Amino acid sequence: MPVDLTASMKVSVDKAVAKARACREAEDSKGAVKAYRQAAGLMKRLVKMSSSASARKKRLAKAANFERVAGIIEEHGLPLPQVHTSASEEVVSGGGALDGRIEGLITKSDIKWSDIGGLDSVKQEIKLAYGLSMASSPAGVKFSGWRNMLLYGPPGTGKTLLAAATSSGLDATFFNVKVSDLLSKYFGESAQLVTALYESAKEHAPSVVFLDEFDALTGSRSGSDSGAEKRLLSTVLSELDGLDSKSDSGYVLTIAATNAPWLMDSAILSRFEKQIHVPLPDLEARKAVLEIHSIKSGHKLDCSPSTIAKLCDGLSGREIEQVCKDVINQMVLRCNPDLSKLVDKGRDTVRNYELKVETLKSEDFKKAASQKNPAVSGEQLERYTNWKSGR
Ligand code: ATP
Repeated sequence: MPVDLTASMKVSVDKAVAKARACREAEDSKGAVKAYRQAAGLMKRLVKMSSSASARKKRLAKAANFERVAGIIEEHGLPLPQVHTSASEEVVSGGGALDGRIEGLITKSDIKWSDIGGLDSVKQEIKLAYGLSMASSPAGVKFSGWRNMLLYGPPGTGKTLLAAATSSGLDATFFNVKVSDLLSKYFGESAQLVTALYESAKEHAPSVVFLDEFDALTGSRSGSDSGAEKRLLSTVLSELDGLDSKSDSGYVLTIAATNAPWLMDSAILSRFEKQIHVPLPDLEARKAVLEIHSIKSGHKLDCSPSTIAKLCDGLSGREIEQVCKDVINQMVLRCNPDLSKLVDKGRDTVRNYELKVETLKSEDFKKAASQKNPAVSGEQLERYTNWKSGR
């Protein structure tokens, strides 16, 4: 008679959970942590035996929850302080809340490559990386593509835009995650959230998981940090390790971004075979960014875009966008001096009013650009340029 491994594994899980409960009651922290971890390990083995995606998902959530409860007990000891009411083995309600949070991270991006000014070589590199991973290989020939890449560079240079354009280029599901938010908003549950996130990314594949402010994780390797941060880091790393560059489970590309790559240690960096510098825009790129935020939105300039791009030396894409906004605002105020009075008359009056516009003036650009102080110093820029070669 065939042995039903699934049934015997379920019995083992139940036994481990019963043991954990008994240890909790006896305020035996070590015993409880050990038993919950054992239950998590058994549950993960059950995940592999699951016959449906939904069973897999539920079991993964349960395993993550056992890990989470073990972590909380390890960190705080028993009995747990009142605030840890979430240290329950029940994942039914917790799982639902988790799904809601994951849903909140999913977007469909409609950013196109042409919405990003300059950065041609960076765009090429990213396209090559996913092209290699997704195209089929001739018989007998192997190519190893990339599933993880790190974008680093000064703030406001288009890292998020690049991730979003990659996602829409692939018609992929876009998971936009701020690592610092995971730590602050979902402290204690962040590791569980990451497990569920990658599970969802695989289900919705092809997917792009964008992990912004990735350096927020880096303190986690030093001894002074909390258990929750360490658990988050090790979960992220094991998810990165677990994604084969070519597999049938669907394409999940992780793009991490940071303004401070030097804060990341070599063990973390080694997970990213592709590390791409996203620099401040040069003259040509500044011109392209400027055109995107003025001419392509229907405005006219009284001089060549190159003249204005020269005024924006040292500014990031975000800062150039702000300069354009300032200039457009000034023009709108000048051409429509009674706009605020119309607002006082009510919504319908404003709706029936068509804004008057005129050509944007180079003088206004000069003024707006001179009022912007580049957020990044020359010294910091050099640090980005030298960072890879200095390692
Ligand atoms: P941070 O490191 O601060 O998160 P980031 O590098 O991710 O910044 P983005 O969020 O991609 O920067 O860019 C911010 C905004 O600046 C964009 O929404 C866009 O309007 C503008 N911008 C930045 N770079 C470019 C670019 N190359 N082309 C067009 N617009 C740009």
